[in-house]
Amino acid sequence: MRGGSEMRVPMIAGNWKMNTTVEEAVTLAGQIRQGISGTHGVEVMVCPPFVSLAAVRTALEGTSIKEGAQNSYFEEKGAYTGEVSPIMLKGLCEYVIIGHSERRQYFGETGEVVNRKLAAVMKAGLKPILCIGEKLEDNEAGRTAEVISEQLRAALDKLDFSGELVVAYEPVWAIGTGRAAHGRPVNDTARLIRSVLAELRGRETADQVRVLYGGSVTADNVAEFVEQSEIDGALVGGASLKVDQFASIVRQTEDIFFPNNPPTKDLVPW
Ligand code: PEP
Repeated sequence: MRGGSEMRVPMIAGNWKMNTTVEEAVTLAGQIRQGISGTHGVEVMVCPPFVSLAAVRTALEGTSIKEGAQNSYFEEKGAYTGEVSPIMLKGLCEYVIIGHSERRQYFGETGEVVNRKLAAVMKAGLKPILCIGEKLEDNEAGRTAEVISEQLRAALDKLDFSGELVVAYEPVWAIGTGRAAHGRPVNDTARLIRSVLAELRGRETADQVRVLYGGSVTADNVAEFVEQSEIDGALVGGASLKVDQFASIVRQTEDIFFPNNPPTKDLVPW
């Protein structure tokens, strides 16, 4: 049974990564809409590629399914060929994923870049999903807490973040590998994340921030994570492209958070 996190609305977010054409994205959005109909307790979000944001928004009209972008630049406009700024995303989506490990690994994003991107996203009035996570060698050397704490402090340095921030804890070794972490240690890391957030912005804000787990989440293992008191949902990559998997992840999360009284209307107050 979960406990102590009643005030946080659970969230399941799908990161579609560099998958789906615009047409495929619209089809997938329609299938997800269908697949999760009747659920109300979980804030559900999909993050298609930039080029599909507008079309998916139309496909999801009339539902409470949210959209997020997978990245954005820290400048508002100018000579930055190929980049997309937060003010361009405003109106297309509500959330933006920042600092995903694939961005850090393949595009050289440092803590400072992540910090500037978070600042820009918040300035534009969008809600950031900050991804952090340790590499395998750090995990094996027992440095998870140290790395997570450093990444958080670097990302949030001098930022007035609010309880709207979402933090996705995604161990790098668990992403796309089929080798998910386990509920208990992830719960401990989520607690550590909240204690660092509390140091930076106070306990009240830290208690409002949702902490998600990401890394090979599927319908078979999601329960192990969302049963934990400090974990408020999941950021799902591969399994978010499979409607049955994604819908099951949403439904199981609703059942675990609301075992007796499933909500009859959306809980999301915003
Ligand atoms: C992700 O892309 O954030 C992710 C967690 O991927 P996967 O679920 O495929 O491991």
